[in-house]
Amino acid sequence: MKGLIFNINRYSVHDGPGIRVTFFMKGCPLSCRWCHNPEGISPDPEIADQTERVGEKEFIKKEEAGKLYSAGDLVEILDRERIFMDKSGGGVTFSGGEPLFQADFLAEALSACRNSGYHTAVDTCGYTETSKLLAVMPFTELFLYDIKHIDDNIHYLNTGVSNALILNNFNVLMESGKDIIVRIPVIPGFNDDQSSLDQLRSFLISKKRNNLKRIDLLPYHKTGISKYRKFRRENKMDEVEQPGKERMLELKDYFSGTGIKIKIGG
Ligand code: SF4
Repeated sequence: MKGLIFNINRYSVHDGPGIRVTFFMKGCPLSCRWCHNPEGISPDPEIADQTERVGEKEFIKKEEAGKLYSAGDLVEILDRERIFMDKSGGGVTFSGGEPLFQADFLAEALSACRNSGYHTAVDTCGYTETSKLLAVMPFTELFLYDIKHIDDNIHYLNTGVSNALILNNFNVLMESGKDIIVRIPVIPGFNDDQSSLDQLRSFLISKKRNNLKRIDLLPYHKTGISKYRKFRRENKMDEVEQPGKERMLELKDYFSGTGIKIKIGG
């Protein structure tokens, strides 16, 4: 079996503990307005044209998003970086897109990584059949779980899907006792108003257990904007500014009221 991967980050320090290799898998059932990996949404390989200028001349460079790898290929990539992961307490993270969109391959890849002794994490939006989540659970040591909004209508309007399945799967994970880090993308105009924040905070307080290790507040950033041009997608966030450092510190303070450890960034 092979899986479609659109990016590999070999020295990630934002996707779980230590230095990690992050595999970004193609396909996502959501279409968040702020997505900074828009090339990960389609489940198919894509090719983008990128214009590069050298002196007076312009060249068109092809950029490919989506290559097939077997679980063995991924372990080989990890083996080359093993020393960094071992020394830092790191491991491998599967992200996307939504890694559970390719659930069968994900289970096979996670199992192969565990068998080779790597710490495994899955970064998920939670929108997947519960059976798929259960299938990868035995091979996953840490879930990075996105919770974007508690109001179902606002969630639907901004991501294209209801949050009912996401919140239900979150309950399933919490009950499993697996380690979880909740990730909240802080998106101005979507979830940074007081009512949205209150709902998020109350929800997290109501779910608090020992396996909920941390809440990461991920400030919206504009680094993905050039990809919208490159992959010919409409950017709906032109007018939106990134939250400043002071605002993020305010939010950190606010969410500290949950009694759960809070981090700005991943
Ligand atoms: S869930 Fe993540 S990958 Fe999917 S569209 Fe939203 S931001 Fe992008």
